[in-house]
Amino acid sequence: MSDQHQCGPCTACCQGWLRIRVGEALVAPGHPCPHIGSRGCAIYTERPHSCKAFNCAWLINDLDYPDWLRPDNAKVILKYIDIGTGTNVIGAIPTGTKVPPRVLNFLKELSRQHNLPVLHFERRKEQGRYLPEVNVTGFGPPGMQHLFARIQNKLKGLEQMADDAPPGGG
Ligand code: SF4
Ligand code: SF4
Repeated sequence: MSDQHQCGPCTACCQGWLRIRVGEALVAPGHPCPHIGSRGCAIYTERPHSCKAFNCAWLINDLDYPDWLRPDNAKVILKYIDIGTGTNVIGAIPTGTKVPPRVLNFLKELSRQHNLPVLHFERRKEQGRYLPEVNVTGFGPPGMQHLFARIQNKLKGLEQMADDAPPGGG
């Protein structure tokens, strides 16, 4: 297993791309967490459980993710998702509207090498504001479509920071 990465200057998971409620604040696209600053999380030791439980794939680095894939640089957050079927899935959540093509190409190869299902999210903007709905598509090993069908009703919540995070609105 590769060494864990360090966040360094990245704060992507606190910028609202992952939906989370922190106290009274809804953190969602267009609404960064009020506790993030130039020196990181201002309430680090008291941050919510969903922040502590967030499993950033690039940070964990169990699959030897390249440096360029750091979320603030690659414009995507990769999150391991336990969908409750004994299968770990990678969720690719853009820091914007779409997962960049370079990242998708990397994930296709990763999926092929490790037999890993990948879900990638896409958002839409209207009049400069992100809509709360996300489109989710994916690729992966044979049987993947069957897996997608089983988790359709869970897809909306999968962009949350952790699987037990409270649901967010728009
Ligand atoms: S997205 Fe990952 S690398 Fe970036 S700050 Fe969050 S945990 Fe660290
Ligand atoms: S409370 Fe959570 S989302 Fe907010 S800055 Fe701290 S770690 Fe990031």
